[in-house]
Order: sequence, then C-alpha cells, then structure tokens
Amino acid sequence: MQLNFQTPIEYLKGVGPKKAILLQKELQIYNLADLIQYYPFRYEDRTSFHKIIEVEEDLSYVQLKGYIQSPKIVAKGKKRLVAHLKDDTGIITLVWFQKIQNILKQLKPNLLYQVFGKPTIYNGIYTLVHPEFEIFNPESVQEKKLIPVYHTTEKLKANQMDSRYLRSIQKNLLEQFPSHLVETLPNYLREQYKITDKRTALSNVHFPNDFQILQKASFRLKFEELFYIQLKLLQTRQLRLEKQIGDPYTDIKLLHYFYETSMPFPLTAAQKRVVKEIYADLRSGKQMNRLLQGDVGSGKTIVAFLAMLIVIGSGAQVAMMAPTEILAEQHYKKLKEFASSLSLRIAILTGSTKSSERKKILEELAKGDLQIIVGTHSLINDAVIFQKLGLAIIDEQHRFGVMQRAKLWQKENITAPHVLIMSATPIPRTLAMTLYGDLDISIIDEMPAGRKPTKTLHYYDAQRLKVFRFIKDQISLGRQVYIVYPLIEESAKMDYKNLMDGYESICRAFPEIPLSIIHGKMKASDKEYEMQRFAKGETKIMVATTVIEVGVNVPNASVMIIENADRFGLSQLHQLRGRVGRGQDQAYCILMTEYKLGTKSRDRIQALVSTNNGFEIADMDLRLRGPGDLMGIQQSGLLELKIADLSKDTHILEIARDAAKSVIKQDPLLENSHHHILKQRLEHTKNMSWGNIG
Ligand code: ADP
Ligand code: MG
Repeated sequence: MQLNFQTPIEYLKGVGPKKAILLQKELQIYNLADLIQYYPFRYEDRTSFHKIIEVEEDLSYVQLKGYIQSPKIVAKGKKRLVAHLKDDTGIITLVWFQKIQNILKQLKPNLLYQVFGKPTIYNGIYTLVHPEFEIFNPESVQEKKLIPVYHTTEKLKANQMDSRYLRSIQKNLLEQFPSHLVETLPNYLREQYKITDKRTALSNVHFPNDFQILQKASFRLKFEELFYIQLKLLQTRQLRLEKQIGDPYTDIKLLHYFYETSMPFPLTAAQKRVVKEIYADLRSGKQMNRLLQGDVGSGKTIVAFLAMLIVIGSGAQVAMMAPTEILAEQHYKKLKEFASSLSLRIAILTGSTKSSERKKILEELAKGDLQIIVGTHSLINDAVIFQKLGLAIIDEQHRFGVMQRAKLWQKENITAPHVLIMSATPIPRTLAMTLYGDLDISIIDEMPAGRKPTKTLHYYDAQRLKVFRFIKDQISLGRQVYIVYPLIEESAKMDYKNLMDGYESICRAFPEIPLSIIHGKMKASDKEYEMQRFAKGETKIMVATTVIEVGVNVPNASVMIIENADRFGLSQLHQLRGRVGRGQDQAYCILMTEYKLGTKSRDRIQALVSTNNGFEIADMDLRLRGPGDLMGIQQSGLLELKIADLSKDTHILEIARDAAKSVIKQDPLLENSHHHILKQRLEHTKNMSWGNIG
C-alpha cells in the first residue's frame, strides 16, 4: 500500500485496528502525520557510561558497565531476583520481580555487562529495578546512539504500548517514509539560516545519532512552527497597514509647548524612545496599532498624554478607555492635572455619570468642544459620537478581550482612529510576539530615577504579632497600609468569611486606628466613599479583596500585607505589589503564608522576594505555569505548539520572526514563485493547527 500522511494510523505496520483506537483515544494520533509529529520528550544517551560512584537518585537513567555478582532468588517478602553489579568504583543492587528464572539463567559470572535503568534508593541502597542488560559489546555501543523516549499513558502501557512500542512504530513509519513528503521552507531561507531539510529533520528528531544532530533537527522543526505563526501575524499586520490608512498627525507645537513649560519631571530615556515611536506612527498616514508595555509605575500615563497632545494639537479628539470606574477616575484626574496648564477640555464618562451630565458631554464631543474623553466601556456605546476621533487609548489590564479590541471603534466609518493599547501586565517577549504579534510593540523598560524599590518579605502566619507591630510603627511614622485578602470565585463564601474574620481581628489589634474595608459585594458608591477616605488619609488601614489590584494610586500607602499569598498567581502578586512604592517613602510588601507550603508556591513567593522586575516575574510565571495559564490567557490555537516552547525557545522565535519579517517585507502577498510553498501552507493551515505537516 502506498502510504501518505493522511493514511489512517491503523495501516501502519505494527499498529492495526485495535491499537489504532487506543492511539486515537489516548494520544490523538489519527494518521501518519500525527504520529510523525508526536515527538520524543527526552532522549537517553546509550553512547556513554556512568561509573557506579556517580549514580544519584535524581538521574532519570544511568548506563553502567560491570560484572554481575551473586545473583540469587529471594523468597522472603515479594519473590524477587537480586544481583549486584560491580565496577572499579563501587557496587549497585539490581532487582527483578518478573521472569526471574529466565533472567537468572542469563546472568553469567566473569563477563562484562552493560546495564541500563533508573536509579532509586531502596532500603537506603542504590538499586536499579528491572534494568535492561546485555553482555558488553563495544561495537553495539557505537550503534546505539540516542534513544527517544515518548510520553505514554497508563492505559497504553497496560496494552504493551509503552515508549519502546512508540519507538518501534516510528521506526516503521520512517522506513516506509511516504514519498510525497515535501519541503515546506523555501531553499533560500534554508540556506540563509542553515536549516536542515524536512525529511532529515523528521528522521533525526526521532532517531538522532548524537546531540548535535538532534539539535539541528529540532531547530529546524521549531523554527518552522514559529516561522509560520509569525508569517501569518506579520502578513496580517502588513496587509492592514497597506489597507488601513490613518490620518497623519504631524503638528507637535502643542507637545513642544507643554514640554518646554509644564513637564512635571524629565522623561526617562525609555519614555522618550516610546514617544518617538508613537509619533512616527501618528504621522505616517497609516493607522497605528501599538501595544505599550511597561511595568507598574514605569510612567505610561505621561506617554499617553504626550501622544494625546500630538493628536489634539493637530485638531482631533482622543479617547481613553479603562476597565473599571476607579481606574477611569484616576486616569481622568491625572490627565486633568497634566492638562491644567493648557486650555484643554476633558471629561469623564462612565456608567455612573448622571444623565444630564452625560447629555452635555455627548453634545460637546459631537461638536468637538471636548478634546479628551476618559471612560469605561460606556465609551463604545453607539450614542458616543465624536466630531473627529484621532486616537483611542485602551488601558487593557488584561480585561478586554482581543476581539473587543478589534471591534472597538469600527462603527467609525470614517478613517479609523489610531489605537494605542497600554498594558501594565508585562508579558514575556516571546508571548507578546505571539499573542500581539500583529501589533507593534513599545516597551518602557526603565523606572523613573530616584524610586526606592519595594522591599518584599515573606512571613509565616505564626509571626503575625511581629507584622502587626511593624504596621503600628509604620502608621506612627505617618504611612498607610493595605491588607489584602484573596477572593477566588470557587471559594467565595469562605473567602468573605476570611476577609471579615481578618477585618475583626485587625479592629481588635488596632482599636485606635481608623480602618476602611472594600470588597466586591459593596455598592460602587460605598466603595468609592471608602476609597476616598483612604486616599485622603482619613483612614490608615485599607482591608480589601483584590478590587484594589487595578491601578489604585495612593502614594502615601507604602505598606502592603498580602494574606494567603500562596493563593495568588505570580503576576497578580506583582500587580498588587505595584500599589505601593509610589511615593517618596521606603515601601514594603509582606507576603503572609502558612508554614507549610508546596514547592511551587514556595518558588513563586521566592521569585517575588528576589526581584521587582515585572518582565522577570512574567518570565518566571511563564516557566512555572506554562503559557496556557499565564494571566488566564485562554489556550488559544496560537499557543498549541507541538515542538517549540515559548518559555525556552526565545532565541529561535527571534530568528523565525526576523525571517518572516524579511519575507513579508519583500513579498507581502507571497506571490514570488519561491514563496509559493509559503502561500500554499498558510492557506492550508488556516483552519488547522500550525504545525500541520501536509
Ligand atoms: P504606570 O505605568 O503604572 O501607569 P504612571 O503613569 O501612573 O505609571 O506613573 C507612576 C508615577 O510616576 C506617577 O506619579 C507619574 O507621575 C510618575 N512618573 C512618570 N514618569 C516619571 C518620570 N520620568 N520621572 C519621575 N516621575 C515619573
Ligand atoms: Mg497606569
């Protein structure tokens, strides 16, 4: 039978109908293409040997060479065959529970054996259970190479379909390699980036001769996977740029005036760079679609304001949308402060704007009397009509979906406004390039000078009295304190009880200190009232659930206590911590947990204690949790990668993106004959996973 990649798996030698069903159910392997893309997750090196003295429990396997001593069947307890292997550095125990008569016959004295297995400690002694063994033969070692290891499941193993089985069917597949396997990257790119051809890469990723060959093969496959994603994203971006004109805003007199007369502080180099990047977009005649990333406190607001001035100075209006009312309010205040020296009209529109006020705002917007409107979702309402909207700034805080972002201002049937998305959740570069790869990205990677980094400490619940004393001292120095409790949907009831219990115990501990409390069950107006009291310094301690996570700015609050810190995600903890350290005083973030902590929780807490850098935190979050879980990003099709790993393959991603960039730059529609492969595959993969083979 002539095989091709769509051939159902059951027709492969060594599979058959019964095993095919198991492969489908357990590993989603339906056809030959699925199988060949079921890559090993590690490799065993059978080309070299360990000495017995080097054996450690955390080695996933060892290969040893030595003489067998005193094999005997032990009947006490579970019947087993026990032998010892001796080399010139030590002795290790070998144990078998099955087929023991048979194995006993094969174990001969005075012959050199090679033995392979996973070391464990058994009754305090290093042991290999059910090791593979054979008489040592230097020539066969030469042939042994690296052995691929595949993930299997309990069910597969119960049907004798273990890693070794998968290895054997991969071998069968490669031997009958479908003849129609085509190269999927243009030759010139393969030459430029020294990329192995596809056939060789597939063959070597399963059965590499050595690590160098493996590395070449996996580079090829990872590159391809990432390259096609980037190609798609960059093509989308390029076509949008070509189609989507944007009004050019070139008049920077207002910006200069503000800069010369009213800048409250010198910009950091990063802020300057980003303003230039935005200005280049605004004047280009193409619609801007830019993501502005910067850690909490890095100064995104002033950058947004300067961008506004370019647009306003050129005669158009700007809108700024925030995910919550509290945040919209804060942006509004801050922008108003910046704008106070300029005669700009600025207003805020949210769900709680009174209808008379609302009416007035809408009229002024339509007439062009208002230059800046700040708001929540209310801004996307159909009734909101601008005289000329030139720039929409979206403070994303990872609450607005990507879809919403796209639809946002489409009702404007005139020229689409420029769009600047601000995100205070630093995303690792690899993830940003993949999730927001169709946008341009600006990064503020520098904090304003003179900031004192927040000190982060980890305390156990048992040390609470000490923490209370610390709170008291800080308050007597004039500072204010947040105490934050987790609120997780699934356990909301318990969490509220926790919050209330905590609140009561704080009341008891600080009878003379005025407190505020904010939680999600309160009415917006009550929350606002409490927030205001705290902001004015009338209350000294704010007990809250994570509602304060987003954007709240009280510079005098310099201490944050986070209860049950292990229940928060890493990025979320970092976000919370960003609420303090906004003023002149040394800020503290104290993470409270029980003494008993899982390894992962401990790693998270440790990560937070060790760095204040949001991008580093995001990288760690990515490593600890994987991209799927990061910041609740849905497992989007984009992130289902077969071989590349966004937490590790940063370098390959950069190369793939550069390659895709140069292709799209030369030939955005992929019309050149040497790009036909690319065009074909992009169309082909439209509705399929990216790595699909053909
Ligand atoms: P975020 O990036 O979190 O939105 P903000 O824009 O709110 O940060 O800025 C945080 C604080 O730092 C604000 O009080 C802001 O006025 C101040 N700030 C911003 N840029 C600078 C700078 N270059 N020098 C000094 N202070 C700055
Ligand atoms: Mg901000």
